Amino acid sequence: MTVDQQMKHVKTFLGDCWKVLGDKSLDYAPENIVLLDVVRSAGYSGIRPAAAMYLHLEKHVTAVRRYCATGKVTAEPIHGRFVDLINHASLINFFIENEETIRRDVAQYILDHDACTCTRGGDRCDRCTAVVNLADRELPWD
Ligand SMILES: [Zn+2]
Repeated sequence: MTVDQQMKHVKTFLGDCWKVLGDKSLDYAPENIVLLDVVRSAGYSGIRPAAAMYLHLEKHVTAVRRYCATGKVTAEPIHGRFVDLINHASLINFFIENEETIRRDVAQYILDHDACTCTRGGDRCDRCTAVVNLADRELPWD
């Protein structure tokens, strides 16, 4: 095989990644807010969004590692696992390079859509804790 053949194959593979990412882009961006679900969940859980995203990536890394070690794959063809692995890696990279803006957008979404259940003199509610976790800012009533 030649390098030209290799590059043609890689170009086709990356085209597959691009198509799948495009098909799923709105799944990753409900209401056109990128990465809303995973970043919102991370905020509520108090974990770093990149760490939450890595868990999605690791599922595919594990499948690829198993395939490379055994030659066997169970649930879906290995090609799709590689596509998902690359796409999740690209989303983590995108998040990291735009983290401040994405955290702020998701925090604003939470402020606009989730109900505050804080009580005067009581503990901060889950929604407001998520906002603080994501936006690293104090709330007006704190
Ligand atoms: Zn609250």
